[in-house]
Amino acid sequence: QVIVVGSVNVDLTMRTDSIVAPGATVPGRDFATLQGGKGANQAVAATRAGASTSLVACIGADAYGESARAALRDAHVADDRVRVIGDSPTGMAFIQVADDGENAIVVVAGANAELSPADVDAAFGEVTGEPPVVVLGLETPFATMTHAAREASARGWTVILNPAPARALPSDLLPLIDVLVPNEHEAEALGHSTIDDLLAAGTHAVVVTRGARGARIHTTGEVTDVPAVAVSAIDTTGAGDAFIGALAASVAAGASLVDAVGAAAHAGADATTRIGAR
Ligand code: ADP
Repeated sequence: QVIVVGSVNVDLTMRTDSIVAPGATVPGRDFATLQGGKGANQAVAATRAGASTSLVACIGADAYGESARAALRDAHVADDRVRVIGDSPTGMAFIQVADDGENAIVVVAGANAELSPADVDAAFGEVTGEPPVVVLGLETPFATMTHAAREASARGWTVILNPAPARALPSDLLPLIDVLVPNEHEAEALGHSTIDDLLAAGTHAVVVTRGARGARIHTTGEVTDVPAVAVSAIDTTGAGDAFIGALAASVAAGASLVDAVGAAAHAGADATTRIGAR
C-alpha cells in the first residue's frame, strides 16, 4: 500500500500569443480546467500502477474541491483522509502558455497550506496490514512533511520524498528519507554540493529524473542509469508525478529499486504521450 501526503490543485490553463505584460489585458484561448497538484497526481499514478493508495490532503469547501474529490474517487484513490477546510479555497494553479512555449504560472496554495501534523497522525494511526510506502512532497507545509517523514521512518516504513517545488533540505531530514527523487533542476537546489553529500548525510538512494534521458540512481559508491522509454512526447507535464507514483507502487510491491525505477520510467514516458498532468 501507498500513502501520499501532499497537495491537491485544480489547474486553470489557457493559451495566449505572448505572456501578458504587467497592466495589460490580452485575449486567451483553449481554456481548460484540469485536475492537478503533485500529491493527487502521484496518488492517481500509484493506483494505476496497482497499489492500494490513500491520499492525505486538504481541499476547500468549493466546487473545485468537489471536482478534485470526484476525480480521486474515479481513479480509486482512497479519499477519507482528504479534509475539507471551510475558509480556504482549493489549491489553484493559473497557467498561461504562450505560443512560443513560454509559460507563466501562479499557484495559490489555499487549503494545501492547512495540511497539518494532526492530519498525518490520524492517517498513520489507522494503518493496518503491510507497512506502507509513504510519498511526500513540498507543495504542502514543510513542518507537516518533516513530521510525516519522522513518524513514517520511526515505524520502519519506506519514505520517498519528491523535493518539488525546489528548495534546500536541512541535513537532519536526510536520514529519514529512503529514496529522494528530484528532477535535474531540483537536484541543483537541494543545498548540498554533491549527491554524495546527500548519501553521506543518510539518504539511502537518490533517483534523479532526467526527462528524455531517463533516470540516474545514486546509492553509496554506485551510480546506475535507467534509460528512458522512447515515445513521441506531446506534453511532459506530470511526467515526474507519474514516475513517482509508479515508483512507490513498485517499491510497495517488493520490487528492487532498479526494477521500480524501470517501471517508473514507463509510467513517466506514458504520461508524456497525453495532454495534462494526469
Ligand atoms: P519532471 O516532470 O518532474 O520535470 P522529468 O522531466 O525528469 O520530471 O520526467 C520524469 C521521468 O519521466 C523521466 O525520468 C523519464 O523516465 C520520463 N520522461 C520524461 N520526459 C520523457 C520523454 N520526453 N520521453 C520519455 N520519457 C520521458
